[in-house]
Amino acid sequence: MITIHLASGNAHKAAEFQRLAEDSKLAVEVLAAASMPAVVEDTGTFAGNARIKAFALQAVLPAGAWVLADDSGLCVDALGGAPGVESAYYAGPRGDSAANLRKLVAALQAVPEQKRGAHFVCVLVLLGPAGGEQVFEGRCAGTLRREPAGGAGFGYDPLFVPVGCTRTYAELGEAEKSRISHRALAWGKLADWWRRNGV
Ligand code: IMP
Repeated sequence: MITIHLASGNAHKAAEFQRLAEDSKLAVEVLAAASMPAVVEDTGTFAGNARIKAFALQAVLPAGAWVLADDSGLCVDALGGAPGVESAYYAGPRGDSAANLRKLVAALQAVPEQKRGAHFVCVLVLLGPAGGEQVFEGRCAGTLRREPAGGAGFGYDPLFVPVGCTRTYAELGEAEKSRISHRALAWGKLADWWRRNGV
């Protein structure tokens, strides 16, 4: 079993990766970083911010560790792609998810049904023990409800209805979300790479 250290303090993300690792039947365990170094995510891109987190964690781990960083967010059509890379801090620097959700509900109040498209993006950066760096991206398109629905998940899950579904990520629950989400799609690419490279 190989341990991959996750460069995130987000317990929900860690739980999603643990489930994804189990479901993909790779001989890996994803371990949330015991303490994530403070970083400034200022590159303006998901990939750039994920690299910052990955290298920050690698710097405080023993040499030879596998490191995984996830940078993700919700890009809303009617807001020109916002909040995007700023998703965690949409309502302010404290990263308050409930406030972020309220702000998004308010911002989209006057937006009609046919213009409520959005997509989630997840970019993963995987650093290997020999210095290799791999990048994988997953996207999930959908629409945004007027009011939050559902109690599972985190962040903007209660507003987002993936294409082909009638329920939000938060109503679908973790098992179903793990089959279709932006994070699952990115992880699927990582798992393909892992198997191809016989790690
Ligand atoms: P990050 O930790 O800097 O990548 O910020 C990710 C932010 O994007 C989170 O705080 C959420 O606001 C949002 N986000 C990313 N992935 C998800 C998801 O799967 N569900 C709901 N919100 C998400």
